[in-house]
Amino acid sequence: AAGHELAPTTGATLVVGGTGYIGRFVAEAGLALGHALYVLVRTFGPLVCPSRAATAAALREKGAIILEVIMHELSSRLSCMLTSIMMMTMRRRRRTSDVFQGSVNDKDFMEKTLRENNIHVVISAVGGETILDQLCLLDAILAAGTVKRFLPSEFGHDIDKANPVEPALSLYNRKRRVRRAVEAAGVPYTYICCNSIAGWPYHDNKHPSKAAPPLDRFVIYGDGSVRAFFVAGSDIGKFTMRSAFDSRTVNRAVHFRPSCNFISMNEMASLWERKIGRTLPRVSFTEEDLLAIAKENEIPTSIVAALTHDIFILGCQSNYSVDGVKDVEVSCLYPDMAFRTLDDCFSDYISSLLPHQTRETRPSAAAAAATVDQLAVPPAT
Ligand code: NDP
Repeated sequence: AAGHELAPTTGATLVVGGTGYIGRFVAEAGLALGHALYVLVRTFGPLVCPSRAATAAALREKGAIILEVIMHELSSRLSCMLTSIMMMTMRRRRRTSDVFQGSVNDKDFMEKTLRENNIHVVISAVGGETILDQLCLLDAILAAGTVKRFLPSEFGHDIDKANPVEPALSLYNRKRRVRRAVEAAGVPYTYICCNSIAGWPYHDNKHPSKAAPPLDRFVIYGDGSVRAFFVAGSDIGKFTMRSAFDSRTVNRAVHFRPSCNFISMNEMASLWERKIGRTLPRVSFTEEDLLAIAKENEIPTSIVAALTHDIFILGCQSNYSVDGVKDVEVSCLYPDMAFRTLDDCFSDYISSLLPHQTRETRPSAAAAAATVDQLAVPPAT
């Protein structure tokens, strides 16, 4: 990669959504690389979601500059009492040096923020519900004139190539609308197509890697033979950050296709069985089962089911090649940088199930299985 990477010191990076599931990996990778990193945090978050506040504090501890924004629609979301408590909290907080007032949907505020902090790279990891908020962010990027690269919130499949059933298709249409707006605006961009995050692909969990693989039975989609690409969250962050500062990725989609983690559900189940030292029953979940959940149109569960159908029934991650001029495979960019293997990621789950064991005192896989047998690990919703 030598000679292709822009020096991180040429400007600051702003991560929007850095307290979210994917955004945190990106922010942490940026900090690990020593970037000047700003993270935009919505201030109602700490009140309604302590874990987001804890994430912001952890990122600040690692060197991130936290930009707090006030949600204008706050009063409609919370009761009057809660609102006044928050405003008192904000008045106290505003005395600190890195707190700003505004809203992410406030173009003037965002423009000022980008310009005053000399932001060169903006990486957005907003969730599916707020994809179109990025259109306002794009207006601000254009007006500020400092931004040399924009990575809109993608972090999945190539949305111009895949065509999932509804309601995932509507999500893709919103992401496509952002792509077209970015391209029309002429802002240099990079689209991150990282495929599946490493973990058991629960069809009813939008953040599947947060839950350990099953300990009671495997739910296998279709015949379990369709392969998909799995990427550890830390690698999503690491390669996103590299791509954001790489001259070879300008106006291209970067595809994460690690050959070491191209694996089917049947193979993944066997891998987990080796880790826990015993076999589990396999229950088949058919194409019709997935389509029925998608049809219920419950958000986000139906979106996850529709994507699961696209991945494990239709094979959407590997039924196209990435040799177009607008595409590049991340392993071609950084051939010397290894991906974490799914095997390693599964070992992490064993460690988290047995948190008090050191490497020396950790039991064998079979003994560990006896322990994990006792632990209920329901998939998170
Ligand atoms: P999350 O819902 O976990 O996090 C979204 C983050 O964005 C939160 O920090 C949220 O802040 C912030 N945010 C949302 N809207 C705004 C806004 N208007 N202004 C400022 N901040 C905002 O999202 P995910 O991590 O699940 O999703 C991120 C992307 O990754 C999506 O494009 C999604 O499709 C993709 N994805 C990919 C997966 C994969 O396996 N490849 C898995 C999951 C997601 P707040 O705390 O205030 O809400």
